[in-house]
Amino acid sequence: MRDAVYLFHPNSLNYVFGQNHPFDQRRITLTRDLLRTAGAFPTDGAILPADRLDEELLHAVHVPEYVERVKALSEPAPDDGLVGDAQKYGLDTDDTPFFPGMHRSAEIIAAASVAAAKLVMDGDARHAVNLAGGLHHAMPQRGSGFCVYNDASIAISFIRKQYGARVLYVDTDVHHGDGVEMSFYSDPGVYTYSIHETGKYLFPGTGLVEQRGEGEGFGCTVNLPMEPYTEDDSWLECFGSVLDDVLRKAKPDIIVSQHGCDAHALDPLAHVHCSMKIYREMPRMLHEAAHAYCGGRWVALGGGGYDIWRVVPRAWALLWMEMSGHPLLRQIDADPKLRLPREWLERWGPESPEELPETWLDDPASWSPMPRRAEIEAKNRRAAELASMYLR
Ligand SMILES: [Zn+2]
Repeated sequence: MRDAVYLFHPNSLNYVFGQNHPFDQRRITLTRDLLRTAGAFPTDGAILPADRLDEELLHAVHVPEYVERVKALSEPAPDDGLVGDAQKYGLDTDDTPFFPGMHRSAEIIAAASVAAAKLVMDGDARHAVNLAGGLHHAMPQRGSGFCVYNDASIAISFIRKQYGARVLYVDTDVHHGDGVEMSFYSDPGVYTYSIHETGKYLFPGTGLVEQRGEGEGFGCTVNLPMEPYTEDDSWLECFGSVLDDVLRKAKPDIIVSQHGCDAHALDPLAHVHCSMKIYREMPRMLHEAAHAYCGGRWVALGGGGYDIWRVVPRAWALLWMEMSGHPLLRQIDADPKLRLPREWLERWGPESPEELPETWLDDPASWSPMPRRAEIEAKNRRAAELASMYLR
């Protein structure tokens, strides 16, 4: 059995909504190059997943009418009539505009997430990552929030149907994981746990702690909304305490986690104020949980992350190093000022519009505490206590 597998398909880089759109796949290349220059990319390379997805798997999550419309709008010059009602399917918004080749690239991203799930469930790998995945806002009948096909839901429904395994989905993106929650809202075999900035101020506006699932799945949906300007310690305290309670209750056979890294203070689309510390600590907690509860079975997906230069490459490289047990992590833990590889900084520094950070972690000394810190921490703690109480 392999310990950790890194999946990558070059066509996932064609999942591009257009120039100047915040969803920028160069972050996948930047992450890979950071790992390579740090000597942490797998020596036998990335695994290339199949580039087709069984239509049945797609239809298990998305209604056929939506899939047909995605396909039609992926043509170089779609029919005027189809373009006219694209909005009905969420595909002509500023956030999620249709583009040529959309179906193929979204299909390939989902195929990679399914391949990751299969490797882990078959026992061919303990852990697997698909950084192009984590498109958690896509709904059964429409696209939403930069997401066309919900690869996370597709991979989880594959696990449910193929193996009958119990799944814990953990969504650490700063935006509520609404699409995945919706897919399994009444399924007692899937727990979804999303920590996010409160929907009072941020897209998609949902994810209240009181949203707990329905029918047989009541109690299996767990939401932990954080206040704007939440910092590391409060985020980690709340995330960790509720994670423990979810694990005990859910008794999962596998963890599927989503690693949007837009809760960082530098992210331009949200207001949470965490540093790289949470992207070091949180993957460690999930890794330990996978071994403690699931025989190691852990699939990690990417997600949001819109500071593609200063945040995403470091966060996702830390995730992979945790997953693969790379020894560089011990050095980073011992020396929080450990520098990024010079080769990476020299190559990308000139291309980055912002000055690149030089260290793996952010310097806490350069981090001034937010105003109202105590009030924010108290509100977050109340949300976590409520989420935990619901799990009892
Ligand atoms: Zn996000």
